[in-house]
Amino acid sequence: MHVRFMQEALREARKSFDINEVPIGAVIVRDGEIISKAYNTRNSDSNPLHHAEILAINKAAKVIGDWRLEDCTMYVTLEPCPMCAGAIVQARIPKVVFGSKSHKAGACGTLMNILQNDKLNHKAEIIEGILEEDCSNLIKDFFKALRAK
Ligand SMILES: [Zn+2]
Repeated sequence: MHVRFMQEALREARKSFDINEVPIGAVIVRDGEIISKAYNTRNSDSNPLHHAEILAINKAAKVIGDWRLEDCTMYVTLEPCPMCAGAIVQARIPKVVFGSKSHKAGACGTLMNILQNDKLNHKAEIIEGILEEDCSNLIKDFFKALRAK
């Protein structure tokens, strides 16, 4: 099940790749169904907030009609950054599944852990390493292609 939803997140990430964005994709699942999908559009939208996770939360909240995404799971190809981890806490998402770690900005265990901080009023379960190779290879391929240009 985790693999299937991560494959969907990867499919979203490839859409970023195709428009020359760092390939990161996210899906939000509720009751075993995908209610929202998004991919990074930071460059095309000239918007520093337009990470895949933020866009996916935005859509999911609209679908549910509530800011609380309490019975949802987020699948994301790369470990969320501090902004996105903050948004996950704000949205009360109880579970986050990510593919590969981010050594540059990971805020779910790598550089810090915003999702499991005793000082905050919400914590999320973290499952990592689902389709890790596919997720990290996609990003590596992107930067390789970028350098070749
Ligand atoms: Zn982010």
